Amino acid sequence: MPEGHTVHRLARALGELFTGEALAVSSPQGRFAAGAALLDGRVVVASEAWGKQLFLGFAGHGGHGGQHGDGTAGDDDVRWLRVHLGLYGAWTFAGDGSTAVVHAIGAPRRRIGERETVPAGPGEPPVAALSDDAWTPPAPRGAVRVRLLGEHAVADLTGPTACEVVTGEEKAAVEARLGPDPIRDPAPGDPDPREVFVERVRRSRSPVGLLLMNQDVVAGVGNIYRAESLFRARLDPLRPGRDVPAEVLRDLWDDLVALMRDGTRTGAIVTTRPQDRGAGGALDVPADPGRRRARVRQNADGAPGGVPADEAFYVYHRDGLPCRVCGTPVLHQELAGRNLYRCGVCQV
Ligand SMILES: [Zn+2]
Repeated sequence: MPEGHTVHRLARALGELFTGEALAVSSPQGRFAAGAALLDGRVVVASEAWGKQLFLGFAGHGGHGGQHGDGTAGDDDVRWLRVHLGLYGAWTFAGDGSTAVVHAIGAPRRRIGERETVPAGPGEPPVAALSDDAWTPPAPRGAVRVRLLGEHAVADLTGPTACEVVTGEEKAAVEARLGPDPIRDPAPGDPDPREVFVERVRRSRSPVGLLLMNQDVVAGVGNIYRAESLFRARLDPLRPGRDVPAEVLRDLWDDLVALMRDGTRTGAIVTTRPQDRGAGGALDVPADPGRRRARVRQNADGAPGGVPADEAFYVYHRDGLPCRVCGTPVLHQELAGRNLYRCGVCQV
């Protein structure tokens, strides 16, 4: 499942591709035909993320591909496409090469989802501009729930957990249930997100490792940021939330803000400090002693200057390998059906 930084990057990519454009919206698979009809021909006016929720705003009364702001299209008329990718959802982009959004489109088509393959940007070869020939969007591949087709680009959504059209009021209701998102700047007048986070953790007796994955407590944290931020805080994931000192949680929040905004900027999750990298970190142990393990593909591997995936984490997917700090084998267990990684010595 993508973590929050990927959803923010998707929101930015969709906004850069389509804002101000009237889109042809369809559901090649058919399951979203009614929703697509509500948005077809409307102009994209906003693209936002909150945690793992993505909201794409379409102006009201744009049914003929006309202007928004025509005197009748107030905020109340904006319709929002709400998407949650869940475990299997992905966006696929393609374009005619004329747009400056090189990180989101190109050939061969790139998928963004669990396996993010969008290069970080700097150093990436630009998408070659094509001739003036009319661009033909590729045929939908797989079960495309919704297709957003603009003049220069197309975005196909497959396999989402949620895909629906909501009003501004309904969007606000979804957001009201979510915890603060470390990547979002709080709106003026909003309560301090850090204090909201601290309060929500400390009012629960659930393990803090479970609370970090609860989107009502903090929005956008997934399994990698959970494991890594708790390690960096030297915090036992199984400690009840109400027993974690507030100052520890404030530092944890600040660390999540820094890590997740860095991930949003680069497209890669890197949590190790430079002195702890190398094959096994400062301890100079082999990265993988002959074991087969699922390769972590969250990182923009191959990006110039990027940190390789096998050096990017302290504990995530490193069960059985020596802790980069103390050398003790990293522990693995299931917690509420999700894999949890931790060091039993460093995190007490
Ligand atoms: Zn350790």
